[in-house]
Amino acid sequence: MIGQHLLSVDQLTKQQVVTLMDNADTMRELDHKHIIASSGLAHTNLGLLFFEHSTRTRISFEIAARRLGANVILLQEAMSSTQKGESLTDTVCNLVAMGINLLVIRHMQQGIVQQLAEQVGRKACIVNAGDGAGEHPTQALQDIYTLSHCVNSLQSLRILILGDILHSRVAHSLIKLLVLMGVTDIRIVAPKNLLLSDEKQLKGTVVHDRLTEALPGVDVIYILRLQQERFSDQVGTVIFDQSSYIKNYRLNPSHLSLAGNQVHIMHPGPVNQGVEISHQLVDSDQSIILKQVSLGIPMRMAILTALSSPNMIA
Ligand code: ASP
Repeated sequence: MIGQHLLSVDQLTKQQVVTLMDNADTMRELDHKHIIASSGLAHTNLGLLFFEHSTRTRISFEIAARRLGANVILLQEAMSSTQKGESLTDTVCNLVAMGINLLVIRHMQQGIVQQLAEQVGRKACIVNAGDGAGEHPTQALQDIYTLSHCVNSLQSLRILILGDILHSRVAHSLIKLLVLMGVTDIRIVAPKNLLLSDEKQLKGTVVHDRLTEALPGVDVIYILRLQQERFSDQVGTVIFDQSSYIKNYRLNPSHLSLAGNQVHIMHPGPVNQGVEISHQLVDSDQSIILKQVSLGIPMRMAILTALSSPNMIA
């Protein structure tokens, strides 16, 4: 079983990920046949607590939870009593006291979702929907699931992750998940000041200085957004020149000839067109960005089901 909470991809085994992907396939097939997937979350009050902006993750969780029959309660920071000085722990404990026993939480502070999970213990189940520059496990699971639909085999996959690795919780979770699934060719390209300083977090990857040298033979280019909102947070202050970034690291159509036209382009969104990727590539034949978004729903259905009935993937 996943455990009481889903906070980090570190909690997962390869077999659990495979089971989640199989279960996501089942959810998808049922949905295509217009069959209500299951009432797996009937009588479950699911709280979506988003203390940071989100479009895809929040709505993806909401659709997934509703398809499973959950009663969905949305709490946004601007409307909550945290604005009156209540601590986040108190807010969460009050929601749990009202019977909200599955909480999906996003917050800009790294590590805070883990702390909340410790506080609530076994009284509720918490899913980390992104904690600052920490982790984003459900995004990584949806990305692995997307890859499993788009490439022949995960084991022989050659993937390049490009951009702001330092602040990207998506990259932090994805790299670990790729390694767990046995991917051995993971290439990283980032300016030095946007690279992780902790070598442990880059274990299993090869860092390249220049984009052109990392492109030959890759099956997938995974582009990250510049997380400028975190350029002066606890991770450190980054002095940044956007025009030089665009010149050296933006993915352009000319790069595709180096990678091969069969290459797939991924991005977790939101996309800053013209900054980390040129406009033409966002809607190109190579882009599977919207497929990532669609496949996020069955994967989140599988995740929520596994958390509410842990024996399903024991
Ligand atoms: N949507 C992703 C996240 O919440 C990626 C991003 O914001 O760049 O981390």
